[in-house]
Amino acid sequence: LMQLFRPLDLLGMVYRTIRQGLIDMGAMFALLDRQPEIIDPDCAPNLHVNGGEVIFDNVRFSYDDREILKGLSFTLPAGQTLAIVGPSGAGKSTIGRLLFRFYEPQSGHIYIDGQDIASVTQNSLRASIGIVPQDTVLFNDSIGYNIAYGREGAGHDDVVNAAKAAAIDGFISQLSGGYETQVGERGLKLSGGEKQRVAIARTILKNPPILLLDEATSALDSKTEAQIQSTLKSISERRTTLIIAHRLSTITHADQIIVLDKGKVAEHGKHHKLLAAGGIYAKLWQQQAQDREQQ
Ligand code: ATP
Repeated sequence: LMQLFRPLDLLGMVYRTIRQGLIDMGAMFALLDRQPEIIDPDCAPNLHVNGGEVIFDNVRFSYDDREILKGLSFTLPAGQTLAIVGPSGAGKSTIGRLLFRFYEPQSGHIYIDGQDIASVTQNSLRASIGIVPQDTVLFNDSIGYNIAYGREGAGHDDVVNAAKAAAIDGFISQLSGGYETQVGERGLKLSGGEKQRVAIARTILKNPPILLLDEATSALDSKTEAQIQSTLKSISERRTTLIIAHRLSTITHADQIIVLDKGKVAEHGKHHKLLAAGGIYAKLWQQQAQDREQQ
């Protein structure tokens, strides 16, 4: 009987998620394998962000019985940028999912400005964090709608300004339908770079104090990549930014870099310090430099 109810339960969860104003569809799909549902504590207060310092304190996390994080601790000071790197499968994206509270740690705590994220409403938590995901899912609707989705009640001027800041206004303006052009499965197909710009424009509209940038695994062509990186860099100024990085070349400017290995922080520091240390980071850097040369 439980199996019969499970799809209904799932639908309810999706519906609530939409109502809660969760702004990213990709993120919403990630919810579908989330279990059990995370419920706000009774009378949970809203999160109050004042700067946006993020602390992971001895966080342990397993999917089923596979332990992915084995006591992860780090402090990301308000307004700074911290990048997480490490081998594939190390648990980098999982850190983002925990911060957004798709999952809860088995032990340890995550704090934003001193408030345990498990004790505040999920709604207020998610309203404070903007995600630029690996792969942006677009609605079968106009490109203008897809951007406006970043903030309820956004007007056309707001959408155009966000598109300009995300450097996609030029592209949209030369489409014959302009901002009304239909995109998605049944409309215009956007390239990976264009979809990322839509995600960036949404995030600019949302204007969150904390940013979570989950870098795409595959690189875009180098000119597009450089342009997107410079847009991301400018929106992360004055915001607390957590970058889940796959390519080290995109994070050399970060205030801190954490190398995640076997569920723990294996190395920690700035780019030059980590290179000089000659450890995992330096090896990854050399490997990726060789790959870049071969391309
Ligand atoms: P990549 O660099 O390849 O994107 P990552 O470091 O971001 O990897 P995660 O996506 O955090 O890694 O995944 C960490 C580990 O947890 C992987 O081995 C993955 O297979 C596993 N995993 C991820 N999501 C789930 C899930 N929903 N259920 C079970 N295992 C999962």
